[in-house]
Amino acid sequence: MAKVLLENIQRKFNNVTAIEDITFEIPDGEFWVLVGPSGCGKSTILRTIAGLETATSGNLFIGDRLVNDIPARARDVAMVFQNYALYPHKTVAQNIAFGLEMRKVDRKIIQERLLTVARSLSLENLLDRKPKQLSGGQQQRVALGRAIARQPQLFLLDEPLSNLDAQLRDDTRAELKQLHQQLRITTIYVTHDQVEAMTLADKIVVLNRGRIQQIGDPQSIYALPANEMVASFLGNPPMNILPAIYKGDNFDISGQLLAIPENIKNSLNLHPEQICNLGIRPEHIYINLDEQSTFGRILQKNGEYREEVSDLLAEVKVIEPLGRETLIRTSLPNSFGFINVQVPGGVRLHPGERLHL
Ligand code: ADP
Repeated sequence: MAKVLLENIQRKFNNVTAIEDITFEIPDGEFWVLVGPSGCGKSTILRTIAGLETATSGNLFIGDRLVNDIPARARDVAMVFQNYALYPHKTVAQNIAFGLEMRKVDRKIIQERLLTVARSLSLENLLDRKPKQLSGGQQQRVALGRAIARQPQLFLLDEPLSNLDAQLRDDTRAELKQLHQQLRITTIYVTHDQVEAMTLADKIVVLNRGRIQQIGDPQSIYALPANEMVASFLGNPPMNILPAIYKGDNFDISGQLLAIPENIKNSLNLHPEQICNLGIRPEHIYINLDEQSTFGRILQKNGEYREEVSDLLAEVKVIEPLGRETLIRTSLPNSFGFINVQVPGGVRLHPGERLHL
């Protein structure tokens, strides 16, 4: 097992900069997820760590060893891809043992490792099968097993679940997390799926256009995104981003005034009439079915409540029941785009109905 340190890693392809200024340190045993939209540089970072790609500049350490010039096979890392790349003519057992046999590991140790890995991935009953006799999820478990059997000091996973259907993806995701809890091998996991990032990661690295946007644990990134890209990328349904004009005590949103709570007011670094984007998560909006405007109670610094209009008149456009919750897509009069609101399931509303957010 090992810590991993990237220092100012940059990779150019001809004159295109794929990744730039990539600096982070992963402590030994942690599970980190690199997440971002397609083309943001996730795989390039992972492949550089694996040694399949050479950085144009910067330093890479695995453990205490500078590995810039160390070839992939000598880095002691195991990588799992989305296409499992199993040997089709070998059995599950042979696939898992192959890497160890190549390294001339003692027969007895190979047998022991094979059984331990098979047990931890529930593959004991499949050891004699060939890959084509396995489901996609089972094949992926074999690919993981092959990587684990080598007991690498570092695990690199590139979208390992993206070929699985939804249910299997959820189950395998949980198994992966459990496996990491048992083995504590330092793991770097690449995905474009923010749910995978949120559920698996000790720390998330959000990337966009080859640069790091934010590094943090899932909850703090969700609560305090560093910028609009991070805010809108993490969260499902995504954060509402509303164009607004700052008015000191209020935001003007498409001609309606929304009062700014006292506890936020002092931390805003805006000047009057400044145009800005307001981010509000769908689960932080409440609905009031009165068509008459209601008055919100706003807590002031001195602990007293001040009554103030703090809602927006909106119209229900689309209702999407999701079982436990319902997503209501509303819009403000005279404005384009939806404001999405997440409310408990079972709420009875109709398109065209007016309400206050
Ligand atoms: P991601 O994994 O986030 O989808 P990649 O790391 O694959 O992104 O790619 C990052 C950027 O680098 C993209 O703009 C991609 O087109 C470019 N890129 C990646 N590999 C190569 C290559 N071998 N030659 C030229 N450009 C590349």
